[in-house]
Amino acid sequence: MQTALADFVRETSEGREADAILRKCVHCGFCTATCPTYLLLGDENDGPRGRIYLMKQALEGHPITDRTRLHLDRCLTCRACETTCPSGVQYGRLLDIGRKLVEEKTARPIEESVKRRLIAEALPRRWLFGFLLLLGRLARPLLPPGLAGKVPASIPGAGPRPAPRHARKMLALAGCVQPSLSPDINAAAARVLDRIGISLVETPGAGCCGALRFHLGYQERGLADMRALIDAWWPRVLAGAEAIVMTASGCGAVVKEYGHLLRDDPAYADKAAKISAMTRDISEVLADEIERFAPMPGGGRLAFHPPCTLQHGLRVRGATEKILARAGFELTPVPDAHLCCGSAGTYSILEPELAERLKANKLAALASGEPEQIVSANIGCLAHLQTGTSLPVKHWIVALEARLGESVIMAPASPGSAT
Ligand code: SF4
Ligand code: SF4
Repeated sequence: MQTALADFVRETSEGREADAILRKCVHCGFCTATCPTYLLLGDENDGPRGRIYLMKQALEGHPITDRTRLHLDRCLTCRACETTCPSGVQYGRLLDIGRKLVEEKTARPIEESVKRRLIAEALPRRWLFGFLLLLGRLARPLLPPGLAGKVPASIPGAGPRPAPRHARKMLALAGCVQPSLSPDINAAAARVLDRIGISLVETPGAGCCGALRFHLGYQERGLADMRALIDAWWPRVLAGAEAIVMTASGCGAVVKEYGHLLRDDPAYADKAAKISAMTRDISEVLADEIERFAPMPGGGRLAFHPPCTLQHGLRVRGATEKILARAGFELTPVPDAHLCCGSAGTYSILEPELAERLKANKLAALASGEPEQIVSANIGCLAHLQTGTSLPVKHWIVALEARLGESVIMAPASPGSAT
């Protein structure tokens, strides 16, 4: 595609990046077939090709309107279009640049701005989100049914965490909302890894990964969150941590991009690149160790929902399925597994109608194989899906640990293990 970027952006780092991305797009439209919002709304401007054209116009200096912002707001950032694109168009990066520009050049209605600001202030602060969740749970019996259904009735217990005792050490990200909504996830990951000779350590002071504010339009604040997290991790990286393990693929997809997002910051560029290189999804870590688990029959029927951030963002495919099959689970077929469930960070709060439709479609697909439980790999998807089904929805590492507790026989520990 030919481009003629406007003077205000042409010679900037973001302008050059956007230009290179736009030039790769041949406007073939293959991506529209896998775009969840295009499939729901049938509007070219609610598909990737249309949005790319809107962003091109904005970058070329054409007027940016509320309609431009509406169509970009409706995008889930699921990046299914990237997976489909034969030309390698990095739509997600273009969207970051386009959204920043649209945020600068348009004014949101006041109620929208307030809502976004409240989310950006509350969710990344672990203590504040935990407090608000507690209030919500106490008030749950008094809430209207629609709202009460969004507040979890119970929070699973974390159980004991193993003390760090192995030579192999990996860092875990506690994250912002996950410790309050599902403290069992990182605890289960720590116990599973402990059994194969890896100590999983959380770092005090390590907060939000920055994705939430960055994708809400507060990009500078998101970058500040990223720098703060790098600062918190860095002493442990220097002390020899082997990897940074993500149990929320949404966070993992962003931490994997730290090196790119902070490439122009001389104080952080090298550290950010190192952090990104060390980051691995928990499924990648365990897939490498899977032969140390004896195969087990009879785990029951289970449907796996691979989050968009796992399959399209991180491009990790098949690892979780391999682990679950080894643990004896029968994975039920799930049609249209590439489509988003509608959670998408804060999308389910900001675009509730579309999110509900996507959730209903996803749950119907997940239930079609008659599973006994649903598992996924990102706290947002888990919480979102659980509000629409009576089937248990949990992180796959929690389901795996329950199986290991029964009967898996461990092979001898690897060299370097203290067990
Ligand atoms: S983003 Fe890729 S698939 Fe979509 S229109 Fe452009 S080249 Fe085609
Ligand atoms: S990121 Fe997802 S919702 Fe957005 S244009 Fe691409 S496929 Fe569509």
